[in-house]
Amino acid sequence: MNIIRSYKFRLYPNRTQAKGMQTHLWLSKNLWNDGLELAKQLYTNYQKFPTRSTYQEISKNSGLHSQVAQNVFIRLDLALKAKIRRKKAGLKGGFPRFKSIDRVKSLHYPQSGFCLKTDERKLKVSPFGEINIKKHRELEGTIKTLTLKREASDKWYAILTTEAEAKPVLKNNGSQIGMDLGLMNFAVLSDATIIKNPRHLKRHQDNIRAKQKPLSRAKLGSSNRKKAKKSLAIVHEKVRNIRRDFLHKLSRRLVHSHSLIALEDLASQEMAEKNYGKSINDAGWNEFISMLSYKAESAGSRVILVNPENTTKECSRCSIMTDKELSERQHNCPSCGLSMDRDLNAAINILNRATLRTVPRSQDSREQKLTATAGIAGSNACEDEAIVSSVKQEAHAFRRG
Ligand SMILES: [Zn+2]
Repeated sequence: MNIIRSYKFRLYPNRTQAKGMQTHLWLSKNLWNDGLELAKQLYTNYQKFPTRSTYQEISKNSGLHSQVAQNVFIRLDLALKAKIRRKKAGLKGGFPRFKSIDRVKSLHYPQSGFCLKTDERKLKVSPFGEINIKKHRELEGTIKTLTLKREASDKWYAILTTEAEAKPVLKNNGSQIGMDLGLMNFAVLSDATIIKNPRHLKRHQDNIRAKQKPLSRAKLGSSNRKKAKKSLAIVHEKVRNIRRDFLHKLSRRLVHSHSLIALEDLASQEMAEKNYGKSINDAGWNEFISMLSYKAESAGSRVILVNPENTTKECSRCSIMTDKELSERQHNCPSCGLSMDRDLNAAINILNRATLRTVPRSQDSREQKLTATAGIAGSNACEDEAIVSSVKQEAHAFRRG
């Protein structure tokens, strides 16, 4: 069984290259729209969709790299077939949409047309030439696909996916910990370690709030609105990067120092929203749990998700429940007299639940997990998307168990 991973690296194209890539986004948008137009006509007149050779014919003069053009049609074809499936199933659903340039942000190279130079400081992409790349992580496995992606800030990124054989699981004899994810601190561990939220994040978040105001005041379609929108998108991107970097480092450190990491099962979004409101999305917990889960595997660590109910109310020494207001930071047990930080008490409960309930990871769920990860191979999904699905699988496996 193979594991698909993906990596996102910043690109530094020169002016000509950036212009070229932008032009190719246009071309790819045009190609999508031309193909869709043709498909609509054919379908209306003959209830048929274009064949592969018809598509190839139109893409010849598209100006795009053949791989990129081919991929536009593969995606269009999938979207069209999904329409038929929905129709057969008696569901509503129209044709895919014509795209405006705002909706086209990436160019996909499913097999070839690119290579990483041996010094790994340049990525050669046809037809743009050698583009400077900041490769800040080692790649595991063989490179399979490339996606060139332009973010809202106009920064370009390369998303490379690799394929590698699954390695046998290592042994890790680190300690076992429970983790209570919070909003004041990022987390409190059952060994009383406090993990603070990344620095600078608060400042950027204030900045976002400040920038949202002029945006809501600016007239629709005005150039001020465009400017405000863009500067907001740039701060959002910054926040995403700071947070992702923080989560990557933290999860790597944790899986290497602990043999078991227990967390609350937040897979049920409904539950999470009930308990924490919308801030759960800001906190990046789901992303964090995803990162932990896939990193744990190769570090010989285990991630266990436990039932989150009453982890705050329960006394970690005598199990008696006591109600607490959100503002009460201390757990004071009326029954056994235990007095400790509220989040620490919760973290210990979380660990207890994971160790008392010895649900072994069955071979079954492991295999499912790998398939789930591998299944996304063709879509050029970025790392984090791929992992989310594997965590969900795991969560389901635990619930069954
Ligand atoms: Zn107690």
